[in-house]
Amino acid sequence: MEKFQNLIAGEWTDSGEFQSNVNPSDLSDVIGEYARADAKAAGLAMEAAATAFPSWSISSIQQRADILDKVGTAILARKEEFGRLLAREEGKTLPEAVGEAGRAGQIFKYFAGEALRIHGEKMSSVRPGVEVEITREPVGVVGIITPWNFPIAIPAWKIAPALAFGNCVVFKPADLVPGCAWAIADLLHQAGIPKGVFNLVMGRGSVVGEAIVESPRIHAISFTGSVATGRKIAVRCAELGKKLQLEMGGKNPLVVLDDADLTVAVNAAVNGAYFSTGQRCTASSRLVVTAGIHDAFTEAMKEAAAKLVVGHALNPETQIGPVVDDSQLRQDLYYTDLARQENAEVAGGRLLARETKGFYLEPALFLNTTNAMRINREEIFGPSASVIRVKDYEEALAVANDTEFGLCAGICTQSLKYASHFQRHAEAGMVMVNLPTAGVDYHVPFGGRKASSYGPREQGGYAREFYTTVKTTYLAP
Ligand code: NDP
Repeated sequence: MEKFQNLIAGEWTDSGEFQSNVNPSDLSDVIGEYARADAKAAGLAMEAAATAFPSWSISSIQQRADILDKVGTAILARKEEFGRLLAREEGKTLPEAVGEAGRAGQIFKYFAGEALRIHGEKMSSVRPGVEVEITREPVGVVGIITPWNFPIAIPAWKIAPALAFGNCVVFKPADLVPGCAWAIADLLHQAGIPKGVFNLVMGRGSVVGEAIVESPRIHAISFTGSVATGRKIAVRCAELGKKLQLEMGGKNPLVVLDDADLTVAVNAAVNGAYFSTGQRCTASSRLVVTAGIHDAFTEAMKEAAAKLVVGHALNPETQIGPVVDDSQLRQDLYYTDLARQENAEVAGGRLLARETKGFYLEPALFLNTTNAMRINREEIFGPSASVIRVKDYEEALAVANDTEFGLCAGICTQSLKYASHFQRHAEAGMVMVNLPTAGVDYHVPFGGRKASSYGPREQGGYAREFYTTVKTTYLAP
């Protein structure tokens, strides 16, 4: 079985034990043995990054742009191969996985361009004979901690801007999906990233993640994952004075109004709730439907969900891949049971057997639910969605906003009046009109409000807010 090591100080390094990377569509398919670092190895990576920072922070922007462009070009050229790896290790269907790999390639190319666009401002001083310059500098060594559900795109949208703006990186991917993380490290290495500028430390959150958070060598942390872990990290970063960016969970509403085009609404809901096996922070988990369209929408949803083909992620007919692992599967089943206990009607949601042993689950629709139920307050992160019936737009908006989360909010309507009112009043970082709540562009800001996000936005030009720090210089020539 092939072994994959960590990349520390420019060297592929054995750093503790190895773990098997297992395919959730077929538990007999082991993708490889991947290093699982201990705290000592994490320490070496942080030391290497700190050593590399002084020269990388003033490196030529052309050098940075060239390296990022090479990586982006390589990912795009090999996106079928990386998509296959992603589908094998995470369980997304092959088209979804190839799409995600392509997006990662575009992100690297986008930030290759951003490296060339680092600009400041020059202003007059209120004092005669004095000039003021506002410039941007890298933050330092950035710790990047990512979840399992977008194993190539999320690392790309953190690593590429970090490097573009002159920071060094210590990257800890989720323990469940080391394959795509290793592939990115390999491409950066091949593209000639200088020793120590980028370090890959695969390993557990409780070991490597905590070491990164605690280390005085780390100046900033970009984290995506659960609210519980994010908040724990936030407390320590506040105590240690580290810059922090958190992207966490969601309980995203998709409002369907009486005047919605039924086909558009059902397509948006099916895509938003079930695609990528519902394992998206932007998934549409609460379908808030007004009374006039409720019955027609519910019937059409039940029918569409029942038709979805669940199977092996690499099977061309599959529309919904397996759940990522046993622990997530148990969580999904727990919430389906809870839905019944809370007196919701449950359509679907059964365990499925397929030719290969894997974590197959039928999409679930919870009907006759209220927004007060736990199934509508807590993030499930599986292929399930609830329908909440409301009387009109005003109640729909109130229900949509009645959540601790605020990542994405969607509305299906043909009324410009309601669409624009919703755009202004939805308490979310992103709003979708007649579209699924999931599925975003790579060149515009991504992030939420309330318990969903903390700190500056990710992606697009806004990424510079986190990955740079501002210096104000007063000059008396
Ligand atoms: P976790 O919070 O469990 O893990 C996220 C990352 O943090 C993993 O790499 C994990 O390592 C690491 N980690 C765990 N404990 C610590 C610790 N004490 N210190 C430092 N790092 C630690 O989330 P999941 O990976 O399970 O992802 C699912 C969750 O992420 C969902 O709640 C989902 O909503 C959210 N999410 C949010 C997104 C957003 O952009 N808003 C996008 C994607 C997911 P290890 O793998 O070893 O556990």
